[in-house]
Amino acid sequence: MLRVAVVGSGPSGCYTAQHLVQQDPEVRVDVLDRLPCPYGLVRYGVAPDHEKIKSLQAGLCTVLEHERVRFLGGVRVGGPGGVPVKVLRGLYHAVVYCVGAATDRRLGIPGEDLPGCWSATEFVSWYSAHPDAADAGYVRGVRSAVVIGAGNVAVDVTRMLMRGAAELRPTDMPQAALEALTASGVEEVRMVARRGPAQARFTTKELRELGTLPGTRVAVEPGDLALDPADPETLPAARRRNLDVLRGWAGRPAGSGRDIRLRFFLRPVELLADGGRVGAVRFERTAPDGHGGVTGTGRYEEMPAQLVLRSVGYRGVPLEGLPFDEASGTVPHAAGRVVRDGAASSGEYVAGWIKRGPSGVIGTNRPCAKETVASLLADAPELARADVPGDAVPALLAAGTEPVAWDGWLAIERAEAELGARLGRGVVKLADWESLLAVARSA
Ligand code: NAP
Repeated sequence: MLRVAVVGSGPSGCYTAQHLVQQDPEVRVDVLDRLPCPYGLVRYGVAPDHEKIKSLQAGLCTVLEHERVRFLGGVRVGGPGGVPVKVLRGLYHAVVYCVGAATDRRLGIPGEDLPGCWSATEFVSWYSAHPDAADAGYVRGVRSAVVIGAGNVAVDVTRMLMRGAAELRPTDMPQAALEALTASGVEEVRMVARRGPAQARFTTKELRELGTLPGTRVAVEPGDLALDPADPETLPAARRRNLDVLRGWAGRPAGSGRDIRLRFFLRPVELLADGGRVGAVRFERTAPDGHGGVTGTGRYEEMPAQLVLRSVGYRGVPLEGLPFDEASGTVPHAAGRVVRDGAASSGEYVAGWIKRGPSGVIGTNRPCAKETVASLLADAPELARADVPGDAVPALLAAGTEPVAWDGWLAIERAEAELGARLGRGVVKLADWESLLAVARSA
Protein backbone atom coordinates (compact mmCIF):
# COMPACT_ATOMS: atom_id res chain seq x y z
CA MET A 1 0.00 0.00 0.00
CA LEU A 2 1.44 3.32 -1.13
CA ARG A 3 1.62 6.12 1.45
CA VAL A 4 1.83 9.62 -0.01
CA ALA A 5 2.23 13.04 1.60
CA VAL A 6 0.77 16.01 -0.23
CA VAL A 7 2.21 19.27 1.10
CA GLY A 8 -0.38 22.04 0.79
CA SER A 9 -4.16 21.77 1.04
CA GLY A 10 -5.14 24.36 -1.57
CA PRO A 11 -6.81 23.38 -4.84
CA SER A 12 -3.69 21.75 -6.33
CA GLY A 13 -3.09 19.68 -3.18
CA CYS A 14 -6.72 18.60 -2.92
CA TYR A 15 -6.94 17.70 -6.62
CA THR A 16 -3.70 15.72 -6.30
CA ALA A 17 -5.15 13.77 -3.35
CA GLN A 18 -8.37 13.25 -5.29
CA HIS A 19 -6.63 11.86 -8.39
CA LEU A 20 -4.49 9.60 -6.21
CA VAL A 21 -7.40 7.96 -4.37
CA GLN A 22 -9.48 7.75 -7.55
CA GLN A 23 -6.74 6.04 -9.52
CA ASP A 24 -5.17 3.80 -6.89
CA PRO A 25 -7.66 1.81 -4.77
CA GLU A 26 -5.17 1.31 -1.95
CA VAL A 27 -3.14 4.50 -1.69
CA ARG A 28 -3.35 6.48 1.57
CA VAL A 29 -2.76 10.21 1.44
CA ASP A 30 -1.84 12.66 4.20
CA VAL A 31 -2.49 16.26 3.15
CA LEU A 32 -0.23 18.49 5.24
CA ASP A 33 -0.62 22.23 5.67
CA ARG A 34 1.36 24.68 7.77
CA LEU A 35 -1.92 26.37 8.71
CA PRO A 36 -4.53 24.73 10.92
CA CYS A 37 -7.07 25.52 8.18
CA PRO A 38 -7.30 23.79 4.80
CA TYR A 39 -8.05 25.09 1.27
CA GLY A 40 -5.11 27.47 0.64
CA LEU A 41 -6.02 30.32 -1.68
CA VAL A 42 -9.69 29.29 -1.77
CA ARG A 43 -9.84 30.35 1.88
CA TYR A 44 -7.10 33.00 1.83
CA GLY A 45 -7.11 34.39 -1.71
CA VAL A 46 -10.54 34.21 -3.32
CA ALA A 47 -12.26 37.53 -2.59
CA PRO A 48 -14.81 37.33 0.27
CA ASP A 49 -17.58 38.68 -1.98
CA HIS A 50 -17.03 35.89 -4.54
CA GLU A 51 -19.28 33.35 -2.83
CA LYS A 52 -19.68 31.27 -5.96
CA ILE A 53 -15.94 30.63 -6.30
CA LYS A 54 -15.68 30.13 -2.55
CA SER A 55 -18.32 27.41 -2.79
CA LEU A 56 -15.69 25.25 -4.53
CA GLN A 57 -14.54 24.65 -0.97
CA ALA A 58 -17.32 22.06 -0.62
CA GLY A 59 -15.71 19.91 -3.33
CA LEU A 60 -12.28 20.20 -1.71
CA CYS A 61 -13.86 19.28 1.64
CA THR A 62 -15.22 16.06 0.15
CA VAL A 63 -11.67 15.13 -0.91
CA LEU A 64 -10.22 15.81 2.54
CA GLU A 65 -13.00 13.74 4.15
CA HIS A 66 -12.32 10.74 1.90
CA GLU A 67 -11.68 7.61 3.96
CA ARG A 68 -8.14 7.24 2.58
CA VAL A 69 -7.24 10.94 2.89
CA ARG A 70 -6.21 12.57 6.16
CA PHE A 71 -5.75 16.32 6.77
CA LEU A 72 -2.84 17.22 9.05
CA GLY A 73 -2.81 20.98 9.71
CA GLY A 74 -0.20 22.96 11.59
CA VAL A 75 2.65 21.00 9.96
CA ARG A 76 5.34 23.24 8.51
CA VAL A 77 7.67 21.60 6.01
CA GLY A 78 11.16 23.08 5.60
CA GLY A 79 12.42 26.34 7.13
CA PRO A 80 12.96 27.16 10.82
CA GLY A 81 11.08 24.75 13.08
CA GLY A 82 9.69 22.87 10.09
CA VAL A 83 9.98 19.19 9.24
CA PRO A 84 13.01 19.00 6.91
CA VAL A 85 12.25 17.92 3.34
CA LYS A 86 14.67 15.00 3.74
CA VAL A 87 12.96 13.79 6.94
CA LEU A 88 9.51 13.99 5.32
CA ARG A 89 10.76 12.04 2.32
CA GLY A 90 11.74 9.20 4.69
CA LEU A 91 8.24 9.05 6.21
CA TYR A 92 6.35 8.40 2.95
CA HIS A 93 6.77 6.47 -0.29
CA ALA A 94 6.28 9.74 -2.13
CA VAL A 95 5.84 13.44 -1.38
CA VAL A 96 3.98 15.86 -3.67
CA TYR A 97 4.69 19.54 -3.08
CA CYS A 98 1.66 21.72 -3.80
CA VAL A 99 2.87 24.78 -1.93
CA GLY A 100 1.72 27.42 -4.41
CA ALA A 101 3.37 30.79 -4.92
CA ALA A 102 3.57 32.28 -1.46
CA THR A 103 4.89 35.73 -2.15
CA ASP A 104 4.44 38.62 -4.57
CA ARG A 105 6.55 39.99 -7.38
CA ARG A 106 8.18 43.35 -6.86
CA LEU A 107 8.29 46.40 -9.10
CA GLY A 108 11.97 47.15 -8.51
CA ILE A 109 11.49 50.93 -8.55
CA PRO A 110 12.52 53.64 -6.06
CA GLY A 111 10.06 54.29 -3.23
CA GLU A 112 8.52 50.81 -3.35
CA ASP A 113 9.17 50.30 0.37
CA LEU A 114 7.52 53.53 1.51
CA PRO A 115 4.73 53.07 4.07
CA GLY A 116 1.45 53.12 2.17
CA CYS A 117 2.78 50.94 -0.67
CA TRP A 118 1.89 47.31 -0.12
CA SER A 119 1.58 44.22 -2.23
CA ALA A 120 -1.93 43.17 -3.16
CA THR A 121 -1.04 39.81 -1.57
CA GLU A 122 -0.57 41.50 1.83
CA PHE A 123 -3.84 43.41 1.49
CA VAL A 124 -5.76 40.31 0.33
CA SER A 125 -4.29 38.25 3.21
CA TRP A 126 -5.46 40.88 5.68
CA TYR A 127 -9.08 41.00 4.56
CA SER A 128 -9.08 37.19 4.12
CA ALA A 129 -8.05 36.67 7.78
CA HIS A 130 -4.71 34.99 7.07
CA PRO A 131 -3.12 34.53 10.50
CA ASP A 132 0.25 35.85 9.26
CA ALA A 133 -1.31 39.11 8.06
CA ALA A 134 -1.30 42.27 10.14
CA ASP A 135 -3.38 45.41 9.78
CA ALA A 136 -0.93 47.87 8.31
CA GLY A 137 -3.59 50.60 8.49
CA TYR A 138 -4.09 50.04 4.77
CA VAL A 139 -7.06 52.34 4.25
CA ARG A 140 -6.64 54.77 7.14
CA GLY A 141 -6.70 58.35 5.88
CA VAL A 142 -6.81 57.22 2.25
CA ARG A 143 -8.84 59.16 -0.31
CA SER A 144 -7.07 58.10 -3.51
CA ALA A 145 -5.60 54.67 -4.16
CA VAL A 146 -3.55 53.40 -7.08
CA VAL A 147 -3.56 49.71 -7.99
CA ILE A 148 -0.66 48.75 -10.27
CA GLY A 149 -1.37 45.82 -12.61
CA ALA A 150 -4.29 44.63 -14.75
CA GLY A 151 -4.91 41.04 -13.67
CA ASN A 152 -7.82 39.54 -11.75
CA VAL A 153 -6.14 40.23 -8.41
CA ALA A 154 -5.96 43.94 -9.31
CA VAL A 155 -9.68 43.81 -10.11
CA ASP A 156 -10.37 42.02 -6.79
CA VAL A 157 -8.58 44.60 -4.64
CA THR A 158 -10.07 47.53 -6.59
CA ARG A 159 -13.55 46.10 -6.03
CA MET A 160 -12.94 45.43 -2.34
CA LEU A 161 -11.79 49.03 -1.83
CA MET A 162 -15.03 50.29 -3.34
CA ARG A 163 -17.51 47.91 -1.68
CA GLY A 164 -19.81 49.39 0.95
CA ALA A 165 -20.92 48.04 4.33
CA ALA A 166 -24.11 46.46 2.99
CA GLU A 167 -22.10 44.30 0.59
CA LEU A 168 -19.23 43.45 2.94
CA ARG A 169 -21.24 42.56 6.06
CA PRO A 170 -22.62 39.29 4.67
CA THR A 171 -19.11 38.07 3.77
CA ASP A 172 -16.90 36.04 6.12
CA MET A 173 -14.21 38.73 6.35
CA PRO A 174 -12.84 39.36 9.85
CA GLN A 175 -14.64 42.00 11.88
CA ALA A 176 -11.61 44.32 12.14
CA ALA A 177 -11.14 44.39 8.34
CA LEU A 178 -14.87 44.92 7.82
CA GLU A 179 -14.87 47.88 10.22
CA ALA A 180 -11.74 49.41 8.66
CA LEU A 181 -13.01 49.06 5.08
CA THR A 182 -16.50 50.34 5.82
CA ALA A 183 -15.15 53.34 7.77
CA SER A 184 -12.67 54.23 5.04
CA GLY A 185 -13.03 57.38 3.00
CA VAL A 186 -11.57 55.99 -0.24
CA GLU A 187 -13.18 58.04 -3.00
CA GLU A 188 -11.15 57.01 -6.00
CA VAL A 189 -9.20 53.97 -7.16
CA ARG A 190 -7.06 54.08 -10.28
CA MET A 191 -6.11 50.72 -11.72
CA VAL A 192 -3.10 51.22 -13.95
CA ALA A 193 -1.65 48.91 -16.64
CA ARG A 194 1.73 49.28 -18.30
CA ARG A 195 0.45 47.84 -21.59
CA GLY A 196 -2.74 48.47 -23.55
CA PRO A 197 -6.34 47.43 -22.95
CA ALA A 198 -6.01 44.52 -25.37
CA GLN A 199 -3.14 43.09 -23.30
CA ALA A 200 -4.87 43.33 -19.91
CA ARG A 201 -5.02 39.97 -18.14
CA PHE A 202 -8.30 40.32 -16.25
CA THR A 203 -11.24 38.23 -17.44
CA THR A 204 -14.37 39.87 -18.82
CA LYS A 205 -16.67 38.57 -16.09
CA GLU A 206 -14.48 40.12 -13.39
CA LEU A 207 -14.08 43.35 -15.38
CA ARG A 208 -17.84 43.73 -15.89
CA GLU A 209 -18.46 43.26 -12.19
CA LEU A 210 -16.69 46.58 -11.52
CA GLY A 211 -19.54 48.29 -13.37
CA THR A 212 -22.13 46.78 -11.02
CA LEU A 213 -20.83 48.22 -7.74
CA PRO A 214 -23.50 50.35 -6.06
CA GLY A 215 -22.68 54.08 -5.92
CA THR A 216 -19.48 53.65 -7.94
CA ARG A 217 -18.71 55.03 -11.39
CA VAL A 218 -16.18 53.35 -13.70
CA ALA A 219 -14.41 55.46 -16.30
CA VAL A 220 -11.76 54.88 -18.98
CA GLU A 221 -9.71 57.59 -20.69
CA PRO A 222 -10.59 57.42 -24.41
CA GLY A 223 -6.95 58.19 -25.25
CA ASP A 224 -5.87 55.02 -23.38
CA LEU A 225 -7.85 52.74 -25.67
CA ALA A 226 -5.36 52.79 -28.56
CA LEU A 227 -4.66 49.37 -30.01
CA ASP A 228 -1.36 47.83 -30.94
CA PRO A 229 -1.20 47.84 -34.77
CA ALA A 230 -0.92 44.02 -34.60
CA ASP A 231 -4.03 43.62 -32.43
CA PRO A 232 -7.01 43.61 -34.79
CA GLU A 233 -6.00 40.39 -36.59
CA THR A 234 -4.60 38.50 -33.64
CA LEU A 235 -6.85 39.38 -30.70
CA PRO A 236 -8.51 36.37 -29.07
CA ALA A 237 -12.27 36.61 -28.47
CA ALA A 238 -11.84 37.04 -24.69
CA ARG A 239 -9.66 40.12 -25.18
CA ARG A 240 -12.15 41.53 -27.69
CA ARG A 241 -14.90 41.20 -25.08
CA ASN A 242 -12.75 43.13 -22.59
CA LEU A 243 -12.33 45.89 -25.16
CA ASP A 244 -16.08 46.11 -25.72
CA VAL A 245 -16.67 46.57 -21.99
CA LEU A 246 -13.90 49.16 -21.70
CA ARG A 247 -15.19 51.14 -24.69
CA GLY A 248 -18.58 51.32 -23.00
CA TRP A 249 -16.93 53.16 -20.08
CA ALA A 250 -14.82 55.54 -22.17
CA GLY A 251 -15.08 59.26 -21.64
CA ARG A 252 -17.51 59.17 -18.72
CA PRO A 253 -17.24 62.16 -16.40
CA ALA A 254 -16.29 61.63 -12.75
CA GLY A 255 -19.21 60.57 -10.59
CA SER A 256 -20.41 62.36 -7.47
CA GLY A 257 -19.70 59.33 -5.25
CA ARG A 258 -16.87 56.85 -5.69
CA ASP A 259 -14.83 56.46 -8.85
CA ILE A 260 -12.84 53.67 -10.43
CA ARG A 261 -10.59 54.84 -13.26
CA LEU A 262 -8.92 52.30 -15.50
CA ARG A 263 -5.72 53.59 -17.06
CA PHE A 264 -3.47 51.99 -19.68
CA PHE A 265 -0.03 52.56 -21.24
CA LEU A 266 1.50 53.85 -17.99
CA ARG A 267 4.63 52.21 -16.56
CA PRO A 268 5.42 52.95 -12.90
CA VAL A 269 8.87 54.47 -12.48
CA GLU A 270 8.91 55.86 -8.93
CA LEU A 271 6.85 56.23 -5.79
CA LEU A 272 7.06 59.73 -4.36
CA ALA A 273 7.00 60.43 -0.62
CA ASP A 274 4.82 62.90 1.18
CA GLY A 275 5.39 63.32 4.93
CA GLY A 276 7.28 60.03 5.25
CA ARG A 277 4.79 57.89 3.37
CA VAL A 278 3.66 57.44 -0.17
CA GLY A 279 2.02 60.51 -1.68
CA ALA A 280 2.04 59.87 -5.44
CA VAL A 281 3.16 57.49 -8.18
CA ARG A 282 5.18 58.67 -11.15
CA PHE A 283 4.47 56.85 -14.41
CA GLU A 284 6.09 56.98 -17.81
CA ARG A 285 3.66 57.03 -20.69
CA THR A 286 4.24 54.04 -22.97
CA ALA A 287 3.24 53.30 -26.56
CA PRO A 288 2.52 50.02 -28.36
CA ASP A 289 5.58 48.50 -30.05
CA GLY A 290 3.67 46.54 -32.69
CA HIS A 291 4.34 43.16 -31.04
CA GLY A 292 2.07 43.30 -27.99
CA GLY A 293 4.74 45.04 -25.90
CA VAL A 294 5.35 48.71 -25.18
CA THR A 295 8.16 51.24 -25.34
CA GLY A 296 8.72 54.32 -23.19
CA THR A 297 7.84 57.72 -24.64
CA GLY A 298 9.84 59.94 -22.27
CA ARG A 299 6.62 61.62 -21.14
CA TYR A 300 5.65 61.34 -17.49
CA GLU A 301 2.49 61.60 -15.39
CA GLU A 302 2.03 61.73 -11.62
CA MET A 303 -0.98 60.39 -9.75
CA PRO A 304 -1.61 61.35 -6.12
CA ALA A 305 -2.25 58.33 -3.88
CA GLN A 306 -2.16 57.66 -0.17
CA LEU A 307 -2.37 53.91 -0.83
CA VAL A 308 -0.55 52.01 -3.58
CA LEU A 309 -1.18 48.31 -4.07
CA ARG A 310 1.19 46.55 -6.42
CA SER A 311 -0.70 43.70 -8.03
CA VAL A 312 1.87 42.43 -10.49
CA GLY A 313 1.63 38.71 -9.88
CA TYR A 314 2.56 36.10 -7.30
CA ARG A 315 5.91 34.38 -7.01
CA GLY A 316 6.95 30.97 -5.68
CA VAL A 317 9.40 30.83 -2.78
CA PRO A 318 12.20 28.28 -2.46
CA LEU A 319 11.63 25.45 -0.01
CA GLU A 320 14.84 24.49 1.80
CA GLY A 321 15.93 21.10 0.53
CA LEU A 322 14.13 21.31 -2.83
CA PRO A 323 15.69 22.62 -6.06
CA PHE A 324 14.38 26.00 -7.23
CA ASP A 325 14.53 27.95 -10.46
CA GLU A 326 14.97 31.62 -9.51
CA ALA A 327 13.98 32.93 -12.93
CA SER A 328 10.52 31.34 -12.97
CA GLY A 329 10.00 30.99 -9.20
CA THR A 330 9.16 27.30 -9.66
CA VAL A 331 10.61 23.90 -8.81
CA PRO A 332 12.22 22.30 -11.90
CA HIS A 333 10.26 19.21 -12.93
CA ALA A 334 9.56 16.75 -15.73
CA ALA A 335 5.85 15.91 -15.98
CA GLY A 336 5.57 16.67 -12.25
CA ARG A 337 8.71 14.73 -11.17
CA VAL A 338 11.11 17.03 -9.28
CA VAL A 339 14.34 17.33 -11.23
CA ARG A 340 17.55 17.44 -9.18
CA ASP A 341 20.88 17.96 -10.93
CA GLY A 342 19.33 17.17 -14.30
CA ALA A 343 17.63 13.89 -13.29
CA ALA A 344 14.19 13.02 -11.90
CA SER A 345 14.41 12.65 -8.12
CA SER A 346 12.84 9.47 -6.76
CA GLY A 347 9.59 9.99 -4.86
CA GLU A 348 9.45 13.81 -5.10
CA TYR A 349 6.76 15.57 -7.14
CA VAL A 350 5.17 19.00 -7.64
CA ALA A 351 1.75 20.23 -8.74
CA GLY A 352 0.03 23.62 -8.98
CA TRP A 353 1.68 27.04 -9.02
CA ILE A 354 5.03 25.82 -7.64
CA LYS A 355 5.14 23.53 -10.71
CA ARG A 356 3.84 25.76 -13.51
CA GLY A 357 3.95 29.33 -12.13
CA PRO A 358 1.13 31.57 -10.85
CA SER A 359 -1.38 31.49 -13.68
CA GLY A 360 -4.75 30.03 -14.53
CA VAL A 361 -7.96 29.63 -12.58
CA ILE A 362 -8.70 27.11 -9.85
CA GLY A 363 -9.84 24.46 -12.36
CA THR A 364 -6.46 24.67 -14.16
CA ASN A 365 -5.07 22.72 -11.21
CA ARG A 366 -7.06 19.60 -12.11
CA PRO A 367 -5.17 18.62 -15.28
CA CYS A 368 -1.94 19.82 -13.68
CA ALA A 369 -2.47 17.47 -10.69
CA LYS A 370 -3.57 14.68 -13.01
CA GLU A 371 -0.28 14.78 -14.91
CA THR A 372 1.72 14.65 -11.68
CA VAL A 373 -0.33 11.77 -10.30
CA ALA A 374 0.14 9.83 -13.55
CA SER A 375 3.92 10.19 -13.16
CA LEU A 376 3.76 9.16 -9.50
CA LEU A 377 1.62 6.10 -10.14
CA ALA A 378 3.88 5.06 -13.02
CA ASP A 379 6.76 5.12 -10.51
CA ALA A 380 4.72 3.34 -7.81
CA PRO A 381 6.17 -0.20 -8.21
CA GLU A 382 9.65 1.18 -7.54
CA LEU A 383 8.51 3.57 -4.77
CA ALA A 384 6.52 0.90 -2.91
CA ARG A 385 9.74 -1.04 -2.19
CA ALA A 386 10.86 1.56 0.34
CA ASP A 387 10.31 0.80 4.00
CA VAL A 388 8.25 3.65 5.50
CA PRO A 389 6.31 3.91 8.78
CA GLY A 390 2.66 2.78 8.69
CA ASP A 391 1.74 6.14 10.21
CA ALA A 392 3.90 9.26 10.01
CA VAL A 393 2.22 11.05 12.94
CA PRO A 394 4.31 9.49 15.75
CA ALA A 395 7.47 10.57 13.90
CA LEU A 396 6.06 14.08 13.44
CA LEU A 397 5.20 14.28 17.15
CA ALA A 398 8.69 13.05 18.05
CA ALA A 399 10.09 15.81 15.83
CA GLY A 400 8.11 18.39 17.86
CA THR A 401 5.22 18.94 15.42
CA GLU A 402 1.71 18.39 16.75
CA PRO A 403 -0.65 18.16 13.77
CA VAL A 404 -4.15 19.64 13.82
CA ALA A 405 -6.50 16.85 12.75
CA TRP A 406 -9.74 17.24 10.78
CA ASP A 407 -11.74 17.49 14.04
CA GLY A 408 -9.64 20.51 14.96
CA TRP A 409 -10.53 22.20 11.69
CA LEU A 410 -14.22 21.40 12.17
CA ALA A 411 -14.00 23.04 15.60
CA ILE A 412 -12.59 26.17 13.92
CA GLU A 413 -15.51 26.15 11.48
CA ARG A 414 -17.97 25.92 14.38
CA ALA A 415 -16.22 28.73 16.28
CA GLU A 416 -16.40 30.95 13.18
CA ALA A 417 -20.13 30.28 12.83
CA GLU A 418 -20.62 31.12 16.54
CA LEU A 419 -18.58 34.31 16.23
CA GLY A 420 -20.67 35.36 13.23
CA ALA A 421 -23.89 34.71 15.13
CA ARG A 422 -22.68 36.81 18.08
CA LEU A 423 -21.85 39.67 15.69
CA GLY A 424 -25.17 39.39 13.88
CA ARG A 425 -23.38 38.30 10.71
CA GLY A 426 -22.97 34.96 8.91
CA VAL A 427 -19.70 33.05 9.35
CA VAL A 428 -16.87 35.36 10.48
CA LYS A 429 -13.30 34.12 10.15
CA LEU A 430 -10.86 33.93 13.04
CA ALA A 431 -7.82 35.93 12.04
CA ASP A 432 -5.02 35.08 14.48
CA TRP A 433 -2.86 32.06 15.22
CA GLU A 434 -3.66 32.05 18.93
CA SER A 435 -7.45 31.76 18.47
CA LEU A 436 -7.16 29.25 15.63
CA LEU A 437 -4.82 26.94 17.54
CA ALA A 438 -6.70 27.30 20.84
CA VAL A 439 -9.97 26.27 19.17
CA ALA A 440 -8.36 23.49 17.11
CA ARG A 441 -6.57 21.98 20.11
CA SER A 442 -9.76 22.07 22.18
CA ALA A 443 -11.39 19.59 19.78
P1 NAP B 1 -1.59 38.28 -13.60
O1 NAP B 1 -2.86 37.83 -14.20
O2 NAP B 1 -0.32 37.65 -14.05
O3 NAP B 1 -1.50 39.88 -13.81
C1 NAP B 1 -0.36 40.60 -13.43
C2 NAP B 1 -0.46 42.02 -13.94
O4 NAP B 1 0.67 42.74 -13.46
C3 NAP B 1 -0.42 42.14 -15.46
O5 NAP B 1 -1.28 43.17 -15.87
C4 NAP B 1 1.05 42.54 -15.71
O6 NAP B 1 1.24 43.29 -16.88
C5 NAP B 1 1.30 43.43 -14.54
N1 NAP B 1 2.73 43.60 -14.25
C6 NAP B 1 3.67 42.64 -14.08
N2 NAP B 1 4.87 43.21 -13.80
C7 NAP B 1 4.66 44.54 -13.82
C8 NAP B 1 5.51 45.67 -13.61
N3 NAP B 1 6.80 45.52 -13.31
N4 NAP B 1 4.97 46.91 -13.71
C9 NAP B 1 3.65 47.07 -13.99
N5 NAP B 1 2.80 46.05 -14.21
C10 NAP B 1 3.31 44.80 -14.11
O7 NAP B 1 -1.56 38.09 -12.01
P2 NAP B 1 -2.68 38.18 -10.88
O8 NAP B 1 -3.65 39.26 -11.10
O9 NAP B 1 -1.88 38.18 -9.61
O10 NAP B 1 -3.45 36.79 -10.98
C11 NAP B 1 -2.75 35.53 -10.79
C12 NAP B 1 -3.64 34.39 -11.31
O11 NAP B 1 -4.76 34.22 -10.44
C13 NAP B 1 -4.21 34.67 -12.69
O12 NAP B 1 -4.20 33.48 -13.43
C14 NAP B 1 -5.61 35.12 -12.39
O13 NAP B 1 -6.52 34.94 -13.45
C15 NAP B 1 -5.97 34.25 -11.19
N6 NAP B 1 -7.06 34.88 -10.43
C16 NAP B 1 -8.33 34.60 -10.82
C17 NAP B 1 -9.39 35.21 -10.16
C18 NAP B 1 -10.79 34.91 -10.62
O14 NAP B 1 -10.98 34.01 -11.42
N7 NAP B 1 -11.78 35.66 -10.17
C19 NAP B 1 -9.17 36.10 -9.12
C20 NAP B 1 -7.86 36.37 -8.74
C21 NAP B 1 -6.80 35.75 -9.41
P3 NAP B 1 1.87 42.62 -18.19
O15 NAP B 1 0.74 41.81 -18.77
O16 NAP B 1 2.28 43.78 -19.00
O17 NAP B 1 3.01 41.75 -17.74
